[in-house]
Amino acid sequence: MRDLLSISDLGADGIEEVLRLTDSFVEVSERRIPKVPTLRGKTVVSLFYEDSTRTRLSFESAAKRLSADTMNFSVSTSSVNKGESLRDTVLTIEAMGVDAIVVRHASAGVPWQVAQWVGAAVVNAGDGWHEHPTQALLDCYTIRERLLERGGSGSFDGLVVAIVGDVKHSRVARSDILALTALGAEVTLVAPPTLLPPGIGSWPVVVSHDLDAVLPKVDVVMLLRMQVERQDEALLPSMREYTATYGLTRDRARLLGGEALVMHPGPMNRGVEIAADVADDPRSTIVRQVANGVAVRMAVLFLLLGSGSEAHG
Ligand code: ASP
Repeated sequence: MRDLLSISDLGADGIEEVLRLTDSFVEVSERRIPKVPTLRGKTVVSLFYEDSTRTRLSFESAAKRLSADTMNFSVSTSSVNKGESLRDTVLTIEAMGVDAIVVRHASAGVPWQVAQWVGAAVVNAGDGWHEHPTQALLDCYTIRERLLERGGSGSFDGLVVAIVGDVKHSRVARSDILALTALGAEVTLVAPPTLLPPGIGSWPVVVSHDLDAVLPKVDVVMLLRMQVERQDEALLPSMREYTATYGLTRDRARLLGGEALVMHPGPMNRGVEIAADVADDPRSTIVRQVANGVAVRMAVLFLLLGSGSEAHG
């Protein structure tokens, strides 16, 4: 694999391979000194044109735990503000000798474009509404980890996952749907019609507008953030009404089975798509998702840059 741009680059076998490799990096991350020399001498740069807390820090700690050098490009302090184009910026970064570029951009397709310009490996860390493949990988890893902890086989076959909320603007939903269905899960989207994308009929999912009816049947419920920064029209009568119908409130969470997982990619709007105490419920995997995100990104960087070296160090 040269780049990781979309979940479809991996297919079911590729996803399984990342999940297997992640096990060894979870083990590394739990060591007293969570660092291996695997990517010593390699340089990973993060090129983020959009805000990020988790993804950016997660890639940076993943690269550091693998002993790679890291560089951080921040749009707000760069020559982008002097009018430098994306292509010139990318070629400048490449001229400094980098091995991987982790890209986030508000426009769909930018990571593909960057991959055509450079010889370095490119990782899509979120392109517009389109994809966020490492988020889907960490979500799948977290689900599988919980299934295994409970003594199950870790198989996704027949697992019922509801993805709830602003699907229309969510790259997380798109990548998760690709990954979960590739592994055999059944995905139900629950959202008001205005927050579903056009063409939803051709997606491999079931659509519902009745969260109360869906919750008792699910193994996993994944809440999406209301992406107000991407909504330029009035798609909802009011946030209060949205929460009343589609929010995972404390009352509604009682409809979930005792073993059901509650997930959220972050950042959360507590009190909007998820009630504050539901986010902190023992069924919630939200903090574990963040921890696993580092190990998953170590696995991805290792697959792209580590040929010939040992995962364990
Ligand atoms: N952090 C995720 C993303 O970058 C989800 C979100 O922003 O709501 O897409």
